[in-house]
Amino acid sequence: MQAQAARATNNVVSLDYSSATDSKSLWEEVSCNLCGSKSRKVKYQGTTDPDTEKLLSSYSASGNFVSKETLVECVDCGLIYTSPRLRRDLILKSYTEAEDPTYVSQADGRIKSFERCLDAVEEFKKGGSILDIGAAAGFFLKVAKERGWKTYGIEPSKYLSDYGNKNYGVNITCGTLDSVPAPAEKLDCITLWDVLEHTFDPKEVLRTCNSYLKEDGIVVINYPNIGNLMAKMAGRNYWFILSVHLYYFVPKTIKAMLETAGFEVVSSKPHFQWLQLGYLTYRLEAYLPKPAKMMGKLFKSLSLDQTLIPYFAAQTRVIARKVRSV
Ligand SMILES: [Zn+2]
Repeated sequence: MQAQAARATNNVVSLDYSSATDSKSLWEEVSCNLCGSKSRKVKYQGTTDPDTEKLLSSYSASGNFVSKETLVECVDCGLIYTSPRLRRDLILKSYTEAEDPTYVSQADGRIKSFERCLDAVEEFKKGGSILDIGAAAGFFLKVAKERGWKTYGIEPSKYLSDYGNKNYGVNITCGTLDSVPAPAEKLDCITLWDVLEHTFDPKEVLRTCNSYLKEDGIVVINYPNIGNLMAKMAGRNYWFILSVHLYYFVPKTIKAMLETAGFEVVSSKPHFQWLQLGYLTYRLEAYLPKPAKMMGKLFKSLSLDQTLIPYFAAQTRVIARKVRSV
């Protein structure tokens, strides 16, 4: 197969499928990441043959392709995940090459959200060293740096990590937890904002976090809670069922995974975000194209498209303390 270029409205990636012989080899089956079981039941039946090229272009910080893949639930522990899923190397390549001006355009709202997030972190840690995994454009680290934290970040997208370093000087290394060397010092806090559900091996990510933290260090995760009442009512139409999400946690499975990685949950609360009205209607277009476009035009005509509003979309923020080394 020839090297191909995929273009989406808001991000540009070039994809090389030369190693793939047919579309089937682009997908892989995975077993349960939490307990290792291969026994699972189908939660939502999907397909493996959507437009793969277009699908891969969605692997970016603001990727919002509604998932058509199959979601399964582990019979033994209840973890919900996507299987089969696109091959790890293909997804990673897309993240690395993604340019994401849509994400960056929401700087004001995201920074405001992260100020609240850091308030929550500081209830458990007053300061020190902090690593943000999947740091994107560095908005959270900018807030942390201004409050005196020593900041580190890891981000696969070169475009986003360059943006953060250039604009905020927050020490983001381009790469993943696998490719970037461990920090030179043990850390007080590690954050994963909208990140764990994107990772290939979340249990290993949390174990690595454990090894990077000081004895009483904390890890902070927010995740789309598919067990939330709003998510349950929406069913397959739950707005966070996206191709970029490989895992779907509920409080019970995130707690179990944190415990296997040497953590104890100390807080679990609804997670609010702030975004511009215009951006929310853009995101809504994936589900209700016509009404969302009409609303978008209306807000623009009333000059309300830049207005920041808080919203809750069935996300949960969990804070866990390291209780043993793993
Ligand atoms: Zn399991």
